[in-house]
Amino acid sequence: MPRVAIYPGSFDPLTNGHLAIIQRGLHVFDRLVVAVATNPEKTPLFTPEERKALIAEAVGRDPRVEVDAFEGLLVDYARTKGVHTVLRGLRAASDFEYEFMLANMNRKLDPDFESVFVMTGEDYFFVSARLVREVARFGGDVSAFVPSNVLEGLRRKLGIR
Ligand code: ADP
Repeated sequence: MPRVAIYPGSFDPLTNGHLAIIQRGLHVFDRLVVAVATNPEKTPLFTPEERKALIAEAVGRDPRVEVDAFEGLLVDYARTKGVHTVLRGLRAASDFEYEFMLANMNRKLDPDFESVFVMTGEDYFFVSARLVREVARFGGDVSAFVPSNVLEGLRRKLGIR
């Protein structure tokens, strides 16, 4: 049986921190489903379709990675996929508290559900999609934190060079 995990997130946009988690996740799992969480109540910078396209482009043609989007509960989405394992990244202690609550809530909702965490390395522990959006919006250089296609996407979206 191939080992498959879902890596969910908002990915608004994908950062090098996310990419590192995907690469390291592939050392543990045979396949990953990178799943863009869509929330109709939030106004993201990139639409779910744009976020999916940026991820697919950055990952390249790796048959081990599927890019998808979902709305609603992660456990319900995972069930429709027949997957019971979720991959998440941990940056700092501040991520831990939220991820701990989320993992336990998900396991209450579906007892078969398991969360697996990969800790980020020193290169990206301070990189979040939100910070990237904010720095890019004010014209800061985010080229070290996102893949080149995302950098292009940010420039187009924000009308900056
Ligand atoms: P962000 O918090 O950057 O907006 P997401 O909501 O898309 O990102 O996060 C999806 C998952 O990826 C979460 O588990 C988050 O902790 C993890 N993650 C995001 N950025 C990093 C990073 N730089 N290093 C490790 N994990 C990360």
